[in-house]
Amino acid sequence: MSYFDWFREDRLPTIYCAGCGNGTVINCTLSAIDEVGWKREETVFVSGIGCSSRASGYIAADSLHTTHGRALAFATGVKLANPDLNIVVFTGDGDLAAIGGNHFIHACRRNIDLTVVCMNNQIYGMTGGQGSPTTPRGALSTTTPYGAAEQPFDLAELAIAAGANYVSRWTSYHVKELTKSVRAGLETPGFSMIEVMTQCPTNYGRRNKFKQVADQIEYMKTHAMLRKKYDTLLEKGEPIPEGAIVIGEFARRSRPAMGVRRAA
Ligand code: SF4
Repeated sequence: MSYFDWFREDRLPTIYCAGCGNGTVINCTLSAIDEVGWKREETVFVSGIGCSSRASGYIAADSLHTTHGRALAFATGVKLANPDLNIVVFTGDGDLAAIGGNHFIHACRRNIDLTVVCMNNQIYGMTGGQGSPTTPRGALSTTTPYGAAEQPFDLAELAIAAGANYVSRWTSYHVKELTKSVRAGLETPGFSMIEVMTQCPTNYGRRNKFKQVADQIEYMKTHAMLRKKYDTLLEKGEPIPEGAIVIGEFARRSRPAMGVRRAA
């Protein structure tokens, strides 16, 4: 089976807007799955609602496109019913951290053996650009016309604190690192969370001074900072550059996990 066999050609092209970062994330995820050699009949994709969550519909494997925020609840059920299945959950910041927030922390706490790929575009894209739990302070959205006043969630830190075995954050610019990281997540028993900062030119970019898609990608490239450098700045008490996006592998551990594949 080749990488291309994972796509449902009859469902292409996708509904994504020109320049959306979601396609890049799907490509990286399927590349990683292809590298580890997972079989179609042993792999299930689960998603909730949102642009990110349309991903499962473009893949030629069993999939569950579930209700808003509930992808992890469905995925937990599938995994516990048959631990021999490989489960990948596609989700977004609104789906995972707002209506699905409680499922998220408890799936991390249970350390259920799933791989979550969260496309964090910092806004509700599909429903018209409302502020999400990861919209940065000061950012404009349809529900924050004067700038978001609230502190955003740090999804990766939340996953670490709640107990996930593997946690990383990359951006849609970092395709090689992202693919490698998804592979590490697939291969780590327990809950894996790969957060991907990705551009939504239609509903985030155009409201927030990114006139071109390339401007947002350039921003992610120039503002990305490896965790090691970030920690060094903190230790030295030096200022963190404004808008820094901390990237890297943040946690890889072997806490007891649920639903791990039975030994052959
Ligand atoms: Fe992508 Fe945003 Fe368009 Fe949704 S609304 S498809 S996230 S660019």
